[in-house]
Amino acid sequence: MAKRKKKLETKYLVRRTVFLFLLVLLLFGLVWGLWRVLGGEGEKEDRDSSSSRGESQPAPESPAEPEPSSDPEPASDPEPVSQPEPDPGPAIDETDWRLVLINPTHAIEKELDMEFDEVQGYKFDKRIAGKVRELIAAAKEDGYSLAIVSGYRTMDRSRMLYANKIAEYKAMGYDEATARVEAAKWVAPPGTSEHHSGLAMDIVSGDYYTKYSDLVEEFENEPEAVWLKENCARFGFVLRFPKDKTAITGINYEPWHFRYVGEEHAKVIMEQGLCLEEYLGETD
Ligand SMILES: [Zn+2]
Repeated sequence: MAKRKKKLETKYLVRRTVFLFLLVLLLFGLVWGLWRVLGGEGEKEDRDSSSSRGESQPAPESPAEPEPSSDPEPASDPEPVSQPEPDPGPAIDETDWRLVLINPTHAIEKELDMEFDEVQGYKFDKRIAGKVRELIAAAKEDGYSLAIVSGYRTMDRSRMLYANKIAEYKAMGYDEATARVEAAKWVAPPGTSEHHSGLAMDIVSGDYYTKYSDLVEEFENEPEAVWLKENCARFGFVLRFPKDKTAITGINYEPWHFRYVGEEHAKVIMEQGLCLEEYLGETD
């Protein structure tokens, strides 16, 4: 009897051991599976490196290492992959002379340093004079005669123009403070005029002054103004004070005032209907 009991006990012990073994195996399988699912990629990399480590070939490994470590720079080449993403547009470099912002909140303290060149007797920053000529020539080819009426302006000249405008308003009965505010909507106070940059021009139709006595918004309906708005970006210019941006620019709509910013920036600004402040993120 004792022998039979012992045999039974042994049988149970074997069964229990087998059962426990299977349970441990199952648990191990579960944990391994989970680990794979959660850390799949990291694990793969780990495996690669551990396998090469496991190969116990220290000699081939160390010469091979400098290669991957010197690679990282060319390896970041796969950037073409990010190219299909939405075009972020040209990079905006705040030190780019073409993107200088001069407005009521970004006044210059002293004259900018630049070389000049003249077009139709008006001064411009030498670097854009060629663009001004190209634009005028292209308009002529399309049958439109354009006349520049303002180019580079010194701070002294702005001082005089601003004072004259204030006097005009005061003559209409405005008090000094109101006259200054109203005048500033038409003539930028010294230091705040974009004409100081040598990158801006007021340009109208050749026969403008046979129809108008001053620069007026109605110019927008003239075919020359339509042509300018449609074609300015090709030569790197933008309509600087759009009709629907006066709240941001603080300047009245000026269908005659164009500003050079460079072709790539002009294209985006005109296509998206922005003003320069918006484009540069300087809207406060
Ligand atoms: Zn102007």
